[in-house]
Amino acid sequence: MKPCPYAKKCGCCDYQGIPYEEQLHTKQKALENLLQGFCPVHPITGMTDPYHYRNKVHAVFSRTKDGRILTGMYEEDSHRVVAVEHCQIENEKAQEIIHTIRDLLPSFKITVYSEQSGYGLLRHVLVRTGEKTGEILVVLVVTSPVFPSKVNFVRALRKKHPEITSVVLNLNDRKTSMVLGKRDIILHGPGYIEDEICGMRFRISAQSFYQVNPRMAEKLYEKAIALADLHGTERVIDAYCGTGTIGLIASKSAGELIGVELNPEAVRDAVKNARRNRIENARFVQADAGQFMTALAEDGESADVLFLDPPRSGATEEFLRAAARLAPSRIVYISCGPESLARDLLVLKKLGYRAEGAWPYDLFGFTRHMETVVMMSGVEK
Ligand code: SAH
Repeated sequence: MKPCPYAKKCGCCDYQGIPYEEQLHTKQKALENLLQGFCPVHPITGMTDPYHYRNKVHAVFSRTKDGRILTGMYEEDSHRVVAVEHCQIENEKAQEIIHTIRDLLPSFKITVYSEQSGYGLLRHVLVRTGEKTGEILVVLVVTSPVFPSKVNFVRALRKKHPEITSVVLNLNDRKTSMVLGKRDIILHGPGYIEDEICGMRFRISAQSFYQVNPRMAEKLYEKAIALADLHGTERVIDAYCGTGTIGLIASKSAGELIGVELNPEAVRDAVKNARRNRIENARFVQADAGQFMTALAEDGESADVLFLDPPRSGATEEFLRAAARLAPSRIVYISCGPESLARDLLVLKKLGYRAEGAWPYDLFGFTRHMETVVMMSGVEK
C-alpha cells in the first residue's frame, strides 16, 4: 500500500488507505446484500494492478497569488484546486504530459484561466490514451480560439512526448462547471485516437464516451457476450450502446444488431466504428431507449437477445416493460449502479425474467464504484 498524500483534500478516492483485497471484499458483500433473493453473486474479478488504470486524465489549471502555475483537481465539493503531482489511479504518461504543458506555459505567455475574474486562456487539459495502440490525444480546453504560437507550442510538446498523436483545442468560454465546450479545433493529427478492445478498433475523440479502464472493460465485455450465447443468427439489441462497443463486438456472432443511444455524437461514433471494423449487420438509432423499445414492441417486433448498459440511474420502467414485450430469450444487464440494478431486476422478475447469476468486475479501484453483469433468461409461460 502506497499512501496518497492528497487523499484528504482531493476526495476522489473513497477507499484510500484500504488494502485492495479489502476493497474488493467490501464491494462483493455490498452486491451480495443488494441481490439477495435474485441470483448467486460470483466472486468479483479485480485488477492485477489497481494503480494508474485511468486512461482519461483531466487536470485543472490555476495560478497561485505569487504567480506559480498549479495543476491538479478540484478540492472535494469546491472550486479550489488541489495541486496533485502524482495521482495513483491516473495513467502516468498522461500525468507527465500535463506537467510538461504546465512547464511550457510561461515561455509561450499562455495565461491560466481564473474562475473568479473570468480572465485567462487555459482552463483544463484532458489527456486520453489508447491502452493497446499507444496513441495519445491531448485536449487543451481554452476560453478563446486564439492560442499564441500554437504551431510552436505543439512542436515543443511533441518534441518531449513524440507519442502524442493528436492535439485539439476545445473552446469553452462559458461560466460553467462542464469541462468541455462544444467546439473542437484540431491542431495536430486526426483529432481522435483509436483503441483496441476485444480485437476491434474504436475511435475516441475529445467528447466520446469510452470506458476509463479498458483492460478491465475488455474482461467485462467478454463475459457479457459469452453469457449471451450467440450462434450467428440472432437479432440482438444493444440498448444505451454509447459508441457501440458491446453491440459491435457481439455482432460478429449475431445475425443482426440494433444499437440505441440518446447522445447523437455517440451514435455518430458508433456508425463510424461499425464501418472502421467492416461490420455490415449493425445499425444504430438515436433515440431514448425506452421510447424506441416501446415503438418496436408496438410494431410487433421481437428480439432474441438484449444487452443493456444504462447510466448509474438504471433503466426506466417503460424500457423494461417494452423489453419484456419484445420477448428476448436472454437479457444481459451490464450495470454501473448496483442499487438501480436491484430495482430493475425486481421489475424484470415480475415480467417473467429469472436472474441466473451476477458477475461483478472492479473497473474503478480505490473508488466505491463497480460494474456488474447479470444474465437473465425468460421463463417459459
Ligand atoms: N455501452 C456503452 C456505453 C454505456 S454508458 C459502453 O460500454 O461504452 C450509458 C450510455 O447511455 C451513455 O452513452 C448515455 O448517453 C446513454 N443514455 C443515457 N440515457 C439514455 C436514454 N434515455 N436512452 C438511450 N441512451 C441513453
